[in-house]
Amino acid sequence: MIDPFGRSITYLRVSVTDRCDFRCIYCMSEHMTFLPKVEVLSLEELDRLCTAFVHKGVRKLRLTGGEPLVRRDVISLVRSLGRHVKSGALDEMTITTNGSQLERYAEALFDAGMRRINVSVDSLDPEKFKRITRWGGLDPVLRGIRAAKDAGLKIKINTVALNRINDDEFDQLITWCGEQGFDMTMIETMPMGDIDGDRTKDYLPLSLVRADLEKRWTLTDIPDRTGGPARYVRVGETGGRLGFITPLTHNFCESCNRVRLTCTGTLYMCLGQNDDADLRTPLRQHPTDDRALAAAIDEAISRKPKGHDFIIDRRHKGPAVPRHMSVTGG
Ligand code: SAM
Ligand code: SF4
Repeated sequence: MIDPFGRSITYLRVSVTDRCDFRCIYCMSEHMTFLPKVEVLSLEELDRLCTAFVHKGVRKLRLTGGEPLVRRDVISLVRSLGRHVKSGALDEMTITTNGSQLERYAEALFDAGMRRINVSVDSLDPEKFKRITRWGGLDPVLRGIRAAKDAGLKIKINTVALNRINDDEFDQLITWCGEQGFDMTMIETMPMGDIDGDRTKDYLPLSLVRADLEKRWTLTDIPDRTGGPARYVRVGETGGRLGFITPLTHNFCESCNRVRLTCTGTLYMCLGQNDDADLRTPLRQHPTDDRALAAAIDEAISRKPKGHDFIIDRRHKGPAVPRHMSVTGG
């Protein structure tokens, strides 16, 4: 699949549920309305959709959400999609999780063919963790991470940089990741969906974070790309890899290789734009024939926009797109 700007689309991110057992302050409001279950695709339908993308050349698949591991029986989807890894059709299948259910599922993920996972951890302080996630607990997440490590999964920690909330912990997080052998990626808050507060005060440009880190750490740019938008440095003192995802200070759209599928079968061709494509209709209208679905996918890719333009400042307090990150999958 080649889009109008010559970019090859090889990466599909799938939000398998919009629901979550946490309510992170930058992602959701405390009282969220979730999709009615009838609108959500079955696991079999999600499998069929993902498989259609694999047949069209997708080489990397990431399950996300919401919290993917709270969807009932999600492991059966993971196992079934694992056949594309085992056949060599996919280079990689992975997941982004908040870690709350990881202790239970880590081995099953590995057995299904996953080798790397992303776990979101914004703080190693139990109280602060609770303040950020509202409903989450640090302990189960740390146990889940340990289980994942024991199962043989390579772990990357995702940390959203939050001004005056977790910016006093970055050194500790870098040290911890170095000790544990985890990669770490820092993310700027993106203006997606209404949250209860105002994101302006929490937004922390990673250019400032990096400049501050460089007072204490030796950061050397490295060319590594993991198929995502992060730019990496090597941390001299720990030997670990640290990535920066900077959708606001440095737009990364020119190398975008991805599209995003929601659990209702809507395809978003850009995280920061509203244009979408309905894949549920062709999927359901032709239960045993994928040709209409394939045509709908081609048509959607032909509309992939050049890029997004997120802005967070005092004049742009509202979200750039109305949907939450948990709908499209972060
Ligand atoms: N629930 C899983 C988790 O938290 O890892 C997967 C879905 S979550 C939407 C994926 C990633 O998006 C997480 O690392 C989260 O921190 C990040 N995220 C959520 N809302 C965001 C926002 N408004 N700006 C930047 N990152 C956000
Ligand atoms: Fe849930 Fe992930 Fe959003 Fe936090 S960031 S509320 S864990 S979907």
